[in-house]
Amino acid sequence: MEEIKKPKKPLIYYYCIALALLLLFNFILMPFMMRRQIRQVDYSTFMSMIEEKKIGQVEIQDNQILFTDKDGSAIYKTGLVYDPTLTERLYEAGAAFSGEIMEETSPFLNMLLYWILPTVIFIGIGQYMYKKLLKKAGGGGDFMSFGMGKSNAKVYVKSSDGIKFCDVAGEDEAKENLTEIVDYLHNPEKYKEIGASMPKGILLVGPPGTGKTMLAKAVAGEAGVPFFSMSGSEFVEMFVGMGASKVRDLFKQAKEKAPCIVFIDEIDAIGKKRDGQLGGNDEREQTLNQLLTEMDGFEGNTGVIILAATNRPESLDPALTRPGRFDRRVPVELPDLKGREEILKVHARKIKVSEDVDFSQIARMASGASGAELANIVNEAALRAVRDGRRFATQADLEESIEVVIAGYQKKNAILTDQEKRIVAYHEIGHALVAAKQNNSAPVQKITIVPRTSGALGYTMQVEEGNHYLMSKEEIENKIATYTGGRAAEEIVFGSVTTGASNDIEQATKLARAMITRYGMSRDFDMVAMETVNNQYLGGDTSLVCSSEMQAQIDKQVIELVRKQHEKAATILLENRQKLDELSMFLYDKETITGEEFMDILNK
Ligand code: ADP
Repeated sequence: MEEIKKPKKPLIYYYCIALALLLLFNFILMPFMMRRQIRQVDYSTFMSMIEEKKIGQVEIQDNQILFTDKDGSAIYKTGLVYDPTLTERLYEAGAAFSGEIMEETSPFLNMLLYWILPTVIFIGIGQYMYKKLLKKAGGGGDFMSFGMGKSNAKVYVKSSDGIKFCDVAGEDEAKENLTEIVDYLHNPEKYKEIGASMPKGILLVGPPGTGKTMLAKAVAGEAGVPFFSMSGSEFVEMFVGMGASKVRDLFKQAKEKAPCIVFIDEIDAIGKKRDGQLGGNDEREQTLNQLLTEMDGFEGNTGVIILAATNRPESLDPALTRPGRFDRRVPVELPDLKGREEILKVHARKIKVSEDVDFSQIARMASGASGAELANIVNEAALRAVRDGRRFATQADLEESIEVVIAGYQKKNAILTDQEKRIVAYHEIGHALVAAKQNNSAPVQKITIVPRTSGALGYTMQVEEGNHYLMSKEEIENKIATYTGGRAAEEIVFGSVTTGASNDIEQATKLARAMITRYGMSRDFDMVAMETVNNQYLGGDTSLVCSSEMQAQIDKQVIELVRKQHEKAATILLENRQKLDELSMFLYDKETITGEEFMDILNK
């Protein structure tokens, strides 16, 4: 896709330039030119010129005297001095100083010359330039007042390097869904014949960075039609009614260019539920109303397809999502293992990688990463290769860049004391050992105690084998036990605890809470929801929907659950105390060990 039209500059832009030029002319150039014409002299020069009879005309004003030389070729001015015999001496010198001496232009003429005429000229130039630009952009001559109601949508047309479906890896269901749209745009007659009409709007929902924008562009690229792109927030202006006028303009342009695709990114910026509260956002509501009206206004078969993306579908106004408007919803989820591998391969095509890179291994390590994060991982690997002076990126580059994306860069000059290093080593082995000893936990991939810029002093990277769609109660419990394993090791070996477990505590609590309030895994509450999820795709914040007595009970159960797993972790470590020491000392010496090395020592 290639952007062909930059947002047009509003008319007010050209008027501002004209005004600036006008002010420059009047306040800087004009006085400068005037100053050159009238020369300032002192009174004694004036007197001596009278004496030598070199004076032509004289005009005595309130605060100064203007005079010319005999042939009138130069004008002078001097200050006013008390001089009672001046008129007599002037008379004797033959100077003309009565009647219309200096040619004073009338105030009206002055204004006409200095203000109105230049203004008219500059406005004329401004208009001319604007019209010319409009013509060049192919936008025709009509414009709204000062261009503020223009949609400013970016327009892309088909180009040879346009994004196609093959550039969007994974997301097969979404692509399949959108293929129908492409087919319709290619061959609308087929659909019209049978009387089927295309959905007017398609809502792409999913977490950030999963390729929603890419998919919309790929639809346009595959169909070879123009693509209008605008973000929801661009509609909302300071003045009420401006956003609505932008919506009108966007649809007008789209209908002219049909068949085409209009893409509205982050539609929740205008499509939020209208709550009718006092002091609501009038501008946003008007914009939304206009959008609803426009979507009703055009027929299903005009060839304008509206795609919109959001990661907060639950906050959208029901009027927007009802059939007839955005009647199709295409989920664009985080990629699964296969999807991740494909995305990595797509992006690795853009860089040079060594042949032995195992993308499936990298994909397994980057569990939970979005498409954008995977693109970032590949790029980081390429950057790392350049930094090390290599010609292509290797498996190690990719693995390291996953860690960079997860935990930040290695902190080269962070110096841990010997004791701290020992504690961190035991802490990480604690996690890994508890994970490995519980059958259902994913195997350990790598353990490191090199400090990272994110603040982590070490971490244990676990790798999911295959895809997981469901998690059993035991699996979650084991996960909680693994989180508590680090702290348990510290307690057993050092008899005291450190701040190092803060993140583990947060994660363990979150899981335990979800088990009780959302997954119905507590016997006391049966299948009753105590919490609801607010933003499914944005971190999954929750809010409690129960009485305060219930909350107190929930808190107690969460504590109980975590304590039980903590004790379980401690038991596992105590039973394997010798392995714990052995592994920790090995990690302490080597700083980074692989899952294989870990398992070797464990199974020895
Ligand atoms: P969204 O609109 O969902 O927030 P984008 O479509 O803007 O995400 O994706 C951001 C970037 O992430 C893209 O430019 C692309 O490099 C990468 N990306 C995301 N998903 C995919 C995918 N499925 N295949 C290939 N690249 C992807």
